[in-house]
Order: sequence, then C-alpha cells, then structure tokens
Amino acid sequence: MSQNVADLSDLPPPDPDALAVFCDVDGTLLDIADTPEGVHVPGALRVTLDLARNRLSGAFALVTGRGLADVERLFEPSRYAIAAVHGLEIRTRPGEPAESYRPDAAFRAEIDRLADHFSNREGIIVEDKTYAIALHFRLAPEAEGDILIELQRSRTKLGSAFQVLNGKKLAELKPLAANKGSAIRHFMAASPFAGRRPVYFGDDTTDEHAFEAANELGGVSVRVGAHPDTRAQMVVDDRQILYTWLKLLSGGRSG
Ligand SMILES: [Mg+2]
Repeated sequence: MSQNVADLSDLPPPDPDALAVFCDVDGTLLDIADTPEGVHVPGALRVTLDLARNRLSGAFALVTGRGLADVERLFEPSRYAIAAVHGLEIRTRPGEPAESYRPDAAFRAEIDRLADHFSNREGIIVEDKTYAIALHFRLAPEAEGDILIELQRSRTKLGSAFQVLNGKKLAELKPLAANKGSAIRHFMAASPFAGRRPVYFGDDTTDEHAFEAANELGGVSVRVGAHPDTRAQMVVDDRQILYTWLKLLSGGRSG
C-alpha cells in the first residue's frame, strides 16, 4: 500500500461512540528503551488512556508482544483490555480470566533450550513469555546472526506451526496459532468492541497482521514511523500526533 504521511486531520474523527481503538505499546505509545524494563509510561499518557477508555465504553485495548503480567505491571494501576504475547494471551475485560494458548511439552523444551543457550551471553536479554520466547540484542547487536540460527533450529524441530519473528533489535519464536491480527478479530467479535470501527496504531513488523485485520474490517491502520513496505493505510512520523488524537478522543483539547 502506498505511503501517505498523515497529519492529525487525516486520522479519523475521534468519535468515542463509533470507534474501537487498539494501540501497540513499545515503539508506538512508548519510546523503545535499551531493555524491556527500561520503558516508562508517562503519567499524563495514562490519564489520557483512562479517559479515552471510559469514553469509548471500554472499546480500547493494548496489543503487544509483551506478556500479560508484564504489560499490566507497566500500566499499573490502570486496567485495560489487553492482547499480550501477540494475541496468544488475551484479556477482553479487566479482572476476568485471560484466554491463553496452551504450549505443549516440545515447545516448552525448545524455550528452555534457547534460554539456557543464551542466558549467560553478555548483552542478550532472554524473555520467556510462557507462550513464546524473545531474545533481545539491542545491547549485543553482533549476536543477531547467532540468535536467528538458534531460533530457526528450534523452529525446524517444532515444524510449520511455529514461526521466527524479527522485531526491532529482538527476535522471537512463537506459535502461528495467534498474531496481532487474530487478536483484533477476537476483540471485534464481542462487546464492547463489536459494531464499532477499528483503528489500529503500531510501529513494527508484528503489527502488519493487525493493519491487515483493521483494513479488512473496514477500519483504519496507522503506522508510527515510515517504512517502505507496510499494509498500514497511513504513516505518522511523530508519536505526538497519536498523543494529540488520543487526547481529543479523551475529551481534552489538542493544545
Ligand atoms: Mg511496537
């Protein structure tokens, strides 16, 4: 799809009665840090998201590669609908049990093998997310090749129901059973999301499935940061545009 660098006026009118809003976390709502723990949720952003969620009657969700407990801790004490681990772990209503993928013994064994292999490597952060494993190499960029070889080795052993994902300075092994696109479809099939028009904001390769889902559901897909090959309908080159739009959605002024 062609790249349209969008301004605030190109985004859909921030109508809380008509929209369902989905936001990726790292790189979209928040700046990426050197480590997953290093990110910070500005207080003002949390207030805006709380107000926006209320005005949307709950039709707001975070869609992330992080684990559910991890992302909940990050946004504490706020509670949102969350698709975690790329949709492998979904909580539609805060406080209710999550629906989770069930990893089998062979997959768990490969997660353990990869964690053992890389846990003592300087600069590599191993993130066991129960339903997937992510290896972060922002602090050890020279390890990328080795990481991809080992992830592919595990994927070959596990078969075609698994995939290796390349993100921003991280690579991940996950089941194909869910992705951010299936997460959007899952949310949109039920209250309080059903019947609304989805708007999805993301910044990375893993968001492409969600852009596609939003497009197919008659919604709007927005990529934060330009990319030569994206299915997003528009690109915004500054996160502040997203912040301003969310603020308008929350009932605040843009200034
Ligand atoms: Mg991201």
